Amino acid sequence: MDSKYTEGRYWKVMNISGKGKGVLARKDIKQGELIVADTPLFIVPPDAHSQNKNTLDNYLDCAVKNLNPLDRETFWNLADSKSIQGKTPRGIYFTNCYSIGQGSSTRFPTAMLPILSRINHSCRPNSEFHWNPEQGYEELRASRCILEGEEITDCYLDLTAQGRITQQERRSLLKSGYGFDCNCEVCSLSFNLLEKDDKLRVEAFNLSQTCFDLKNSFSSEQMVEVLRKAERWFFLRKSLGYKLTHQLEAAEVVWHLAMLLGEDEIASNICREGNLLADIRFGADSQEVQIWREKESNPVKYLLG
Ligand SMILES: [Zn+2]
Repeated sequence: MDSKYTEGRYWKVMNISGKGKGVLARKDIKQGELIVADTPLFIVPPDAHSQNKNTLDNYLDCAVKNLNPLDRETFWNLADSKSIQGKTPRGIYFTNCYSIGQGSSTRFPTAMLPILSRINHSCRPNSEFHWNPEQGYEELRASRCILEGEEITDCYLDLTAQGRITQQERRSLLKSGYGFDCNCEVCSLSFNLLEKDDKLRVEAFNLSQTCFDLKNSFSSEQMVEVLRKAERWFFLRKSLGYKLTHQLEAAEVVWHLAMLLGEDEIASNICREGNLLADIRFGADSQEVQIWREKESNPVKYLLG
């Protein structure tokens, strides 16, 4: 197969014991580095997902047929954990598709990404992807430092949602959805450490259910308490290695509460954290970094918004 889909400056598709194919780092990768810019083989519009199963099947058949021979071979080489007998375009699609928008994959276009589809799962991933609409490709950046020879991983699940919190819940969902037993660095912790990890994840989930709605009329004592909870929530999401997007969500809440309470030092510190996280996830020139900078220099603009 053409090397453009099997290796790049920082990565290489390899056979990984017990996992089939995966992607390894060819050299040390620093946090925030753009590892891959992956252009889709094809994009599926949201209206291809209709009540009628044939609409999507026909769309996929046609899209696969229209690929050039290399891209078609690349598509058929991707994993299919959904079909019962042999691979099907539908099975490959639902095993590997990426939503290219924020939110539910049925309301946004989805993309078949030839390189990112090779990335295996971890409940504590070391990379994070982001659609770049201007360039028309998915960017994969290192969410932490990755050493040469280390596997590059992504998290297939939204670990902030109910039913994906403990190891047992995650394992059962990954087994039924993708057909593998997760033995990532978190799921393979020893019994005592795993018990602690599960407890902290449950605490982070429970904190996410706290009423952080700033339109509520809290007393100042209640506000102080809510801010304390939000800070703990941010700390847990960060220390447990949740996706940067989920860390940023908690940072946003901390910033709002700190501003409303006049806690300038907390607000300023969380702005720096937000700036750093946005830089790692979206890149230094991104709008997200700009927004976090402005939150520090011109907070009123964002408080009113
Ligand atoms: Zn795991």
